[in-house]
Amino acid sequence: MKKIAVYGKGGIGKSTTVSNLAVALAEKGYKVMQIGCDPKADSTIQLRHGKEIPTVLEMFQQKKQNLKLEDMVTVGYAGVVCVEAGGPTPGLGCAGRGIITALEKLEETGAYETYQPDIVLYDVLGDVVCGGFSMPMRKGYADQVFIITSGENMALHAGANIAMAVENFRNRGYASLGGIILNKREVPREEEKVRELAEDFHTQIIGRLDRSELVMEAEEAGKVLLEYAPDSQMAEEYRKLADQILAVCGEERPC
Ligand code: ATP
Ligand code: MG
Repeated sequence: MKKIAVYGKGGIGKSTTVSNLAVALAEKGYKVMQIGCDPKADSTIQLRHGKEIPTVLEMFQQKKQNLKLEDMVTVGYAGVVCVEAGGPTPGLGCAGRGIITALEKLEETGAYETYQPDIVLYDVLGDVVCGGFSMPMRKGYADQVFIITSGENMALHAGANIAMAVENFRNRGYASLGGIILNKREVPREEEKVRELAEDFHTQIIGRLDRSELVMEAEEAGKVLLEYAPDSQMAEEYRKLADQILAVCGEERPC
């Protein structure tokens, strides 16, 4: 089982990219589980055609000791196993703490043994200012961290914070930095700025995604792009990204 965490600034395109990546990997024959680590709980929404699912935290608050795996898990498009960590009521409680609880509950209820995913994708909001958001890169949750950024300064700044956190934890045998995914916003010197970030942290840009109207159309239709426009150039970009990630993770094709 390979465990991959994708981090990036709010709104940079994490959930869209991770969902399409999940489907691209499923198309290749992998069993994929996607875990949204974001209080908004919308990471997997395009895999569920907009259908609401209860979050791990909601279910835990309602059921406590009677919490069961089926309460927290939904199978979405292409068989991707969808989980949303959830979070506290806005203004109350700590969102990072919610992620810790959710990941612990998934383990306790045997999520990984039951679904036996080949690949687990964590979609994590934020730039790791708070410990809870660093949870997926600690304690053996993720093997590899990928950072999504554009060439916009705020996205690069968040990317540098995430990379620094990975570096700080690395000595303790936690996740390592797999590379940078450039989700283009077509700003000046975009490639160059993102390459500088990669070089600063001794890593590489492992994938490039164009800005595409089709991605937004697919979102409007409540679908991942790979379902909405499977034969498009953009779909190929997501498939290529999946290949790159598999190569970095040293993953063999399933038999
Ligand atoms: P949040 O931090 O709020 O969870 P996010 O990082 O998960 O945000 P998304 O929700 O995936 O970001 O994407 C934000 C918006 O950008 C969406 O409207 C999405 O359709 C759009 N988007 C993402 N990637 C692309 C792309 N390559 N081309 C065009 N639009 C894109
Ligand atoms: Mg998101």
